[in-house]
Amino acid sequence: MHPSSALHGPGWGHPEHQGRLRALVSAVRAATPELHDRVESLAGTAAEPADLLRVHSPELVARIQEATAEAARTEAGVAVDETGETLVSSASWAAAVGSVGACLDASRAVATGQLQSAFVAARPPGHHATGDDAMGFCLFNSVAIAAATLRAEGLADRILIVDWDVHHGNGTQDIFFEEAHVFYLSFHESPSWPGTGHPSETGVGAGAGTTLNHTVTPGTGRSQYLEEFGTVLCGVADEFSPDFVLISAGFDALAEDPLGHQCLEPEDFGSMTDAVLGVAWEHCEGRVVAVLEGGYHPARTARAAVETIRALSRPWTRGSGT
Ligand SMILES: [Zn+2]
Repeated sequence: MHPSSALHGPGWGHPEHQGRLRALVSAVRAATPELHDRVESLAGTAAEPADLLRVHSPELVARIQEATAEAARTEAGVAVDETGETLVSSASWAAAVGSVGACLDASRAVATGQLQSAFVAARPPGHHATGDDAMGFCLFNSVAIAAATLRAEGLADRILIVDWDVHHGNGTQDIFFEEAHVFYLSFHESPSWPGTGHPSETGVGAGAGTTLNHTVTPGTGRSQYLEEFGTVLCGVADEFSPDFVLISAGFDALAEDPLGHQCLEPEDFGSMTDAVLGVAWEHCEGRVVAVLEGGYHPARTARAAVETIRALSRPWTRGSGT
């Protein structure tokens, strides 16, 4: 993570408040004795505007920069979307470019073999941010920028983005809807905000067939959820054959999440990580980077993140997955 990510402050009454990352860091520290030999904690470096411009318009980049300056001047949150729910504080620019930068550092390190896998504790989240608009608590789309950068730098060619946040990542889908070399797989609840992500949305032009939206109804049982996740994931990976996997790791499909209506427990995210690792080891030497998206019950999100990190750090042998 980048230290600035913890400071982005839409307000303590906002679901995406600063306590999410504090709880996560505490839980990871508490688990550190067990994971000590296998996990290294690294501070990311901030991204440059040129990195953001790989997927975002100069207007959006300027808007976030100006809103951050205005928030500093007025000492109040500044809304950057129509609903007023996506707020910028005086720390938001540093947090957003810190999150993007940490994703880029992690992705490059995994792509070049310096790390086997990585989990990025990013704030604010990113998967709702489109090329032109911030929305859904998201300012810049860290996962999309990482995918575009890996391709631009020749570090990966066929990238699978697995988005298991309970909401559809409309921004990521939009950015890669016409892109043949980035497969966007979203597993999300329907009906739910933002209302996109119908299974009929499968990509267009060169990107036809490289978007797959799998929807689950509110209250889907845990075993059914995990079974559908594994089946859909394996089908996509066998067809697309990725050489790098990014996870948009939201934890709002946990039971008790205030914005989701699913029943998952923290250990289920360990199982889903194992499933992703299974296809990653089959196709791309286990290269996986998971990036925090949503998840609005801080304590349970933190536990699920630890289960994800535990799975990512486990020595992998064929048959390890579930
Ligand atoms: Zn979400």
